[in-house]
Amino acid sequence: MKELIHRLRETRKLQPDEYKQLLTSLTKEEQEYLFLNAREVAQEQFSNGIFIRGLIELTNYCKNDCYYCGIRRSNDKAQRYRLTKEEVLESCEEGYRLGFRTFVMQGGEDDSYTPRVMVDIIKSIREKYPDCAITLSLGEKDYDTYKQYYDAGANRYLLRHESINAEHYASLHPQGMTIQTRSECLFNLKKIGFQTGSGIMVGSPNQTIDNIVEDILFLEELQPQMIGIGPYLPHKDTPFKDKEKGSLELTLIVVAILRLMHPYALIPSTTALATIADDGRDKGILAGANVVMPNLSPIRFRKKYLLYNDKACMDDEAAESLASLQKRLEKIGYTISYDRGDFRK
Ligand code: SAM
Repeated sequence: MKELIHRLRETRKLQPDEYKQLLTSLTKEEQEYLFLNAREVAQEQFSNGIFIRGLIELTNYCKNDCYYCGIRRSNDKAQRYRLTKEEVLESCEEGYRLGFRTFVMQGGEDDSYTPRVMVDIIKSIREKYPDCAITLSLGEKDYDTYKQYYDAGANRYLLRHESINAEHYASLHPQGMTIQTRSECLFNLKKIGFQTGSGIMVGSPNQTIDNIVEDILFLEELQPQMIGIGPYLPHKDTPFKDKEKGSLELTLIVVAILRLMHPYALIPSTTALATIADDGRDKGILAGANVVMPNLSPIRFRKKYLLYNDKACMDDEAAESLASLQKRLEKIGYTISYDRGDFRK
């Protein structure tokens, strides 16, 4: 196993059955060895700095009906909200004051944010904060819409592919959503020039280890600049409410494998990791992640942006959560980096 880990670190590539071995057959000690190698690779690129991104949850209206997601269209228990441009700008102002230099606007697929509305929001942020990166995570759009976002000043886009296996993808999403469209979006985003992020939920219902291997191979082909990996967590008002949550351990192994394959990638230690275990976020960093995304959304809306049950860090003011993040990072030998943290090769 150690030979596999060394070879992965050196050549950034293994055979499919070798990935499978890493995903299924590591002893505890070998897992620790994998994590050690992954964090050494991250430290070679980023030293002990962890980039922060200010997350602004723009809207929980969504036209999609993904079976796993708490803000799916059919969840009539969700209390819906939309942020106005002014509320977004207030969140940015607070974030900027605290030292954030990346703002991430994430939301459901909400067509009331027409291209014209989004372009206006993006341009306003761009004008006010020329030194900041603007990241979007607003789902699938056509090429022209993505291009308008980019031309207005957005720099990065997060769109997890969720599963590259068509059958598995179809089991997570209702008819009408296809992996073909999703991957076309991802290649369009890259073509336009966005730093592009993709990824999966580990342990999503019906996912097999072979599916994860396929996802790893897809990410190798896509070469995203950002890779988001978190465990699947159930939400009580979705069709998947009784499905098992994903495994913390397997999520960390996937993070570490992807770090060894993508030394320069920006890999967040996700909120889902922080939710599944108290020290989940620390463990993500110790398995090679180098980004954290504290919540900058106005607190009164946060409880409404519930993708899964028991979401972590819901009540902390951004300032408090930064201070406690810094303390936690120090305990494991890291520190917040206030750099804007673009992808660099
Ligand atoms: N609508 C945009 C999109 O689909 O990319 C952005 C928002 S979407 C809610 C963001 C991510 O949340 C998804 O890519 C998905 O992987 C994750 N997510 C949704 N429901 C989840 C759940 N129950 N457990 C863990 N992650 C979840």
